[in-house]
Amino acid sequence: MLDDTDAHRPFMTAALEEARRAGEAGEVPVGAVVVLDGAIVGRGHNRPIGERDPTAHAEVLALRDAARRMGNYRLPGATLYVTIEPCLMCAGACVHARVARLVFGATDEKAGAVVSVARLLDGGRWHHEVQVTGGVLAEEARARMQEFFRTRRTEGYRSGRTGLDSKSSWG
Ligand code: ZN
Repeated sequence: MLDDTDAHRPFMTAALEEARRAGEAGEVPVGAVVVLDGAIVGRGHNRPIGERDPTAHAEVLALRDAARRMGNYRLPGATLYVTIEPCLMCAGACVHARVARLVFGATDEKAGAVVSVARLLDGGRWHHEVQVTGGVLAEEARARMQEFFRTRRTEGYRSGRTGLDSKSSWG
């Protein structure tokens, strides 16, 4: 029998593919997919810069995509896969969407609101409980972030400005 991590791997791979698309567009490379009954029903990648929308995080866009496709603003029984630990907005979105489970890759020490900066989804505090699995393909997700920020910094130095937070935890 496959253990949990093996079962999650193909979907996290799809989320990593979304992350790659974000990176190619110059956005922080985070990707997400929503899975229901073993099928991907929603996809999203980070687009706040391109959309000029501070809420255009991968998770929010994937949940919107899934909700539209399912014709339901709630997604009971769904699993949200995201390459990086969600921020506080996206952890909240998981509760609002009533997803059954959140599966994430790498932790985000500076902005993660599930196990790092805060633990918003720990049991018993909301009207809906979201099960959490972390660390799936974490190395790939982390490497993608580190590579992105490293490249951006190099380019920033060349042009005389980085525009990036020097305290970023992504190396
Ligand atoms: Zn977010």
